[in-house]
Amino acid sequence: MQGEGPYVGTRQAFVRFSGCNLNCNYCDTDFANPGTCDYEQVEGSGSFEKIKNPVSISQLESMLQPFKKLHSVSLTGGEPLLYADFIEKLNLASPLYLESNMTLPEQARKLDEKVTYVSGDFKLPESLRGIGPEAREAHLKNTVECFRLLRKNNSRDCFCKIVIDRNAELESVNPAVEAIAPYVSCVILQPETPIGRDPMSPRSIQASVQRIMELQKSLLEIIDTRVIPQTHRMWGCL
Ligand code: SF4
Repeated sequence: MQGEGPYVGTRQAFVRFSGCNLNCNYCDTDFANPGTCDYEQVEGSGSFEKIKNPVSISQLESMLQPFKKLHSVSLTGGEPLLYADFIEKLNLASPLYLESNMTLPEQARKLDEKVTYVSGDFKLPESLRGIGPEAREAHLKNTVECFRLLRKNNSRDCFCKIVIDRNAELESVNPAVEAIAPYVSCVILQPETPIGRDPMSPRSIQASVQRIMELQKSLLEIIDTRVIPQTHRMWGCL
């Protein structure tokens, strides 16, 4: 099930690509052991077969064959745009739903005709480890360019997701949303999901709720803005 954003609850198959060009504070993706991948043949079973990596295009196409009644196939990661050449050659029965950090415009350009849904992130610069002040401008420029290239049109929905963690400085959000708004159908504010080793106190959760609601109010002046947490975490799904 898609657990995030405006398509929450839709039935998908997930293809999770390994590796990423960013390093976010709140990343929950384990990039270890790219030598094999886990294949859940029966959806929801929690039983995974180890398959040798890398997987070929035809192998992936046949691995996805058993899954029926799908809304779409989610391409997620890591960062799937790193594999744009691979994705470009995929031939699947279901529409493609790209989940991307939107920082690789040259790769995004390759998928302009290929994807039907784009769940694109705007990563707050302070959420990225190892990004200095001088790199922030380039980060925003690349993000806006990715949205421009993969923008919504008659045959594609594109929306923007912003994860708001507890240390987020929100000054950069409004100008970024102003720049991205022409290309997207809506903006999703996704509150950080507190993880076991680093729980939030009730007081900081309250402060976070207030901050996000204030931010939503100001962004609603620009575009449809919704607050949607990660629902798959609520019911213990992957
Ligand atoms: S862009 Fe996504 S996969 Fe990459 S480091 Fe950030 S949260 Fe993790």
